[in-house]
Amino acid sequence: MIQTILERAVAAGRPAAERGAAASYIPELGKVDKRLLGACVFTRDGGRFSAGDTGVRFSIQSISKVISLAAALELCGFDTVFSQVGMEPSGEAFNSLVELEPTGSRPSNPMINSGAIAVDGYLEPKLSFAEMLSFTRKLCMDDGIVLDEAVYHSEMSHISRNRAIAYLLENQGVLQGDVERTLDFYVRMCSLSVTAESLAGLGLLLAEGGVSPATGERLLSPDTVRVVKTIMLTCGMYDGSGAFAVRVGLPSKSGVGGGILSVADRQHMGIGIFGPALDAKGNSIAGEA
Ligand code: GLU
Repeated sequence: MIQTILERAVAAGRPAAERGAAASYIPELGKVDKRLLGACVFTRDGGRFSAGDTGVRFSIQSISKVISLAAALELCGFDTVFSQVGMEPSGEAFNSLVELEPTGSRPSNPMINSGAIAVDGYLEPKLSFAEMLSFTRKLCMDDGIVLDEAVYHSEMSHISRNRAIAYLLENQGVLQGDVERTLDFYVRMCSLSVTAESLAGLGLLLAEGGVSPATGERLLSPDTVRVVKTIMLTCGMYDGSGAFAVRVGLPSKSGVGGGILSVADRQHMGIGIFGPALDAKGNSIAGEA
């Protein structure tokens, strides 16, 4: 049943890719075939359903913000994380600087670049990138996740806007760690290569309240999962989050690599989607369809 629905959904979504375009502001991302589309559902009882291009590795990009937020909540605690980062949708583009300009202001939420860079500022002194990679592999139940060096170098050579955000954050007293090391950590996390299956694995872990369906090990506390899912619902789909929450209603996070991670907790399901053609807001257009 799930398999049939998934295949129909992928077939129905494919034509929408024509109306979108792969992100090109990070040149390496623009090389992807925009017609790709794949969707996966993982269920608590071990069901793994896939349709379309689900084995293709792609760049996790902003979906890594979910992992960084979860790790920061676990390691630094709620009060520290939200002392400098807000919990409100921003209504601005993901890479906006405007709300940071007034003196004393802070990032609206941890799902936009400014908020994620601030969160990474807490993490970077505590965790090496290798430790974050290994944590990400566990959360996603995918040991094949690696740093995509080409994407990493491509993004690092087009980093001006995020560098501007990071220095503004430092100037506002929001980012207390080393700016360049934090940026490097942020870009490495965005450059991890995943599949739709890895995202379905992460979605299932969140649907299961933080317990790994693969090992039975608790990787995240129930409080961390509750906060992460709520922020995903309100802020996870860029400035299209409100409409997506009304129409779809599942905590989700998209990335400019074309991924969408969704959590269907009442059905005990994780959903992972890959479709690199993006709409004007930066969400996978065929993935949403
Ligand atoms: N690495 C990307 C950036 O900082 C992430 C953007 C995204 O996926 O929203 O611009």
